[in-house]
Amino acid sequence: MQEELLNSVIKITKTRDVDSLEYSLISTIQEFIGCEEVGIYKDLQVQGKLVIERSLCLKVLPHDDFLWEDRDVVQEPPSELVSCLQSACIITVQSADGTERRWLPITLQEKPIGALAIVSKGLSSSDQVLLNAFCRIFENYLSILHENERDKLTGLLNRQTFEKKLKQLLEKQLIDHHKSSFPNENRKRTLGATSWLAMVDIDHFKKVNDNYGHVCGDEVLLLLAQKMRQYFRSSDLIFRFGGEEFVLVFEPCDFDAMKAKIDQFMELIRQTHFPFVKTMTVSIGMSRISPYDFPITVLEQADKALYYAKENGRDKLCFFEQLIDDQLIDEKNSDESNDIDLF
Ligand code: GH3
Ligand code: MG
Ligand code: MG
Repeated sequence: MQEELLNSVIKITKTRDVDSLEYSLISTIQEFIGCEEVGIYKDLQVQGKLVIERSLCLKVLPHDDFLWEDRDVVQEPPSELVSCLQSACIITVQSADGTERRWLPITLQEKPIGALAIVSKGLSSSDQVLLNAFCRIFENYLSILHENERDKLTGLLNRQTFEKKLKQLLEKQLIDHHKSSFPNENRKRTLGATSWLAMVDIDHFKKVNDNYGHVCGDEVLLLLAQKMRQYFRSSDLIFRFGGEEFVLVFEPCDFDAMKAKIDQFMELIRQTHFPFVKTMTVSIGMSRISPYDFPITVLEQADKALYYAKENGRDKLCFFEQLIDDQLIDEKNSDESNDIDLF
């Protein structure tokens, strides 16, 4: 038992990304603790509101069979889950037939970011100790992974993780899209909609540094990063790509919805009172992205649209595909803006 336990801890800490870590945690809990179901729930925090996603779930079926259930948004989160997230305390509910559902908070940097749910016929005290220990190991390792993936100043994803995160997101979207093609799947997804990549660059940021100094410039970058995190979904990817340059990748949606969302974001930035500079604007270049595209090509396309926005007045949103359709830029002629590298 001790050796098996140690091996399971080694397995958990061998993982290098959050998805594999969640998979290891769930399979380890199921292996050591008798249960009917175990799952991880996350608070996506959309514009400051609670939006719950079930990240991964394992159901134990008769005859030693298992069912892995993938990511799904929980339309009506149970009140116990909401209480668990608000109080950061373990919540247990027992039904009349003796089934117990236990919610354990998952915290990152002392903030509850989700919960682990385990359904069983009741847990012995040694099972409870083991379960708590697995959750703590998970949290500790999650915080290391989190720090490695993040930019030190803003806490956004760093450029080094771009390719890996993008690949994971697009693969997930492909699976979701495939699932939603089946009529019985009850998913609210826009069939056929593509994902979008945005390159965001602060206008005249050099002036901020020149006039107020680098430290003040950093304050401005921090506030912009905060605004982005509050405004966009936490399932959208937000990278700090360079000094005052950010790359965002969004969930699939149609052109009009995407444009409206970004227009509203740009207005939010115009209205935001930034330290020292008071007002600030950003220019944004966007391009469609599908699982079959090379990330570098899409980055170059977004960069060309951004370059066009900068050349044509700044504080502007430009879509690569629209610029091509309107013959405002040439797809083949890569000119001066074609200097992206991934690291
Ligand atoms: P444009 O509207 O054309 O984008 O003009 P800009 O001044 O924003 O762009 P430019 O590329 O000329 O300058 C970017 C500046 O960003 C240069 C550098 O001083 C500043 N910068 C880069 N990284 C950091 C950082 O980490 N902190 C601070 N405070 N400034 C940074
Ligand atoms: Mg700039
Ligand atoms: Mg720049």
